[in-house]
Amino acid sequence: MLDSLQDGLRSAFKTLRGQGRLTESNMREGLKLVENALLEADVSYIVVKDFMKDVSDKAVGQDVLKALKPEQQLVGIVNQALIDLLGPVDPTLKLEKDVTVLMMCGLQGAGKTTTCGKLARLIGTEGKKALLCAADLQRPAAVQQLHVVGESVGAKVYSEEGATDPIAVCQNAVKFARENGLDVVILDTAGRLAIDEELMQQLKTIDLKVQPDQVFLVVDGMTGQDAVNSAKAFNEALELDGVMMTKLDGDARGGALLSVKHVTGVPIKFIGVSEHMDGLEPFHPDRMASRILGMGDMVSMFEIAQREFDQEQVQKTQERLQKGQFTLDDFRKQLDQIARPGLMTKMLGLMPGMGEMSKMLQGGDHEKEMKRLGGMIDSMTAAERNDPKVIDNSRRQRIAKGAGVSPQEVNELIKQFDSMASLMKGMAGGGMSSAMDMMRK
Ligand code: GDP
Repeated sequence: MLDSLQDGLRSAFKTLRGQGRLTESNMREGLKLVENALLEADVSYIVVKDFMKDVSDKAVGQDVLKALKPEQQLVGIVNQALIDLLGPVDPTLKLEKDVTVLMMCGLQGAGKTTTCGKLARLIGTEGKKALLCAADLQRPAAVQQLHVVGESVGAKVYSEEGATDPIAVCQNAVKFARENGLDVVILDTAGRLAIDEELMQQLKTIDLKVQPDQVFLVVDGMTGQDAVNSAKAFNEALELDGVMMTKLDGDARGGALLSVKHVTGVPIKFIGVSEHMDGLEPFHPDRMASRILGMGDMVSMFEIAQREFDQEQVQKTQERLQKGQFTLDDFRKQLDQIARPGLMTKMLGLMPGMGEMSKMLQGGDHEKEMKRLGGMIDSMTAAERNDPKVIDNSRRQRIAKGAGVSPQEVNELIKQFDSMASLMKGMAGGGMSSAMDMMRK
């Protein structure tokens, strides 16, 4: 999905790899490449312009996260800007009435009939019964196609042989649904190869006379700015509740996806991700942003780091690391940062290959382990924490007794700390972000 956009953005982020910190000049270079990637994906010029302004403002305005590398920072910022660009959106179908009427429109070939079927199926999985209404009386095979689709998803189809008035068909379908205890009516209206006055007039009349609860436009995500222009025209005529964007599983470049909300004000509510009937997904801007960036884990780490870690503390630890002064006190403070309920499991779950381990850890054993380690450090004097080498046999006995552990466990902690301290000195300069990199490998 959106492979070329993903590649473009990834190479933008790569330019910042290996840079010590985010500066105005390396950020400008990264941003220029982000801009190019968007333009190449056929995103509307106005959207690119506003998006880049948003990203620059966010980059300049945010507290620089000391724990993260420039590349990670930019990914986080672009991620947030994408979420803001695509949302907010509530992708739930509000099926609250006895009979809820959903009107589907779109140009021919956009995927309207297919999407009607997918929607009926989705509604079925929510325990409601949908009726498909064949109101496309323009395209010769449309009624037949809807019957095929309806059959494949187990939904009833309402059609009238030889009908010429789509408004009457829609009204009769709603009546039929009421009489037969069906919950939702999906109107499959006529499409055209291009927008024309007659089509719009027909749709407006259906909208007026049948009073659908929600009006959706189906657009082909592969058609780039044409999709955006048709959304604009349909929205002016009908006041759309949402867009359903199809064919994002193909080689859509992403221009329509990223432009439509900003240009028309209408959010995407569902996306088509396959030609099969189960290929319709509610649209979540945050998940789409992660998909586009292809770095869900890194983005989530950014968010967790931003939310959970005391940035000042991270900075101080990093400075001490750089001076080669990492002590058991620092270790203790890091334990405090990470030993909060659920945090460890969350972080582990984001690391490649660690998902299983995080499941094993659920139940809080790792948190108990952190408490055990913390307890031993707390039983030491300041001098011992500063330089564990002074811990002889009698001190070891005293610490063990204070922490309720065996002297051997104290020994193990010191050994572990020694090897960790030398590892951390080795990567001083990168601090936690280097640690994250190591964990990602
Ligand atoms: P309509 O003229 O708007 O009713 O369009 P159709 O529903 O007949 O769809 C046109 C073509 O697009 C069909 O071949 C569908 O199988 C295909 N199609 C629709 N949605 C998707 C989608 O999300 N992904 C893919 N790959 N194909 C789709």
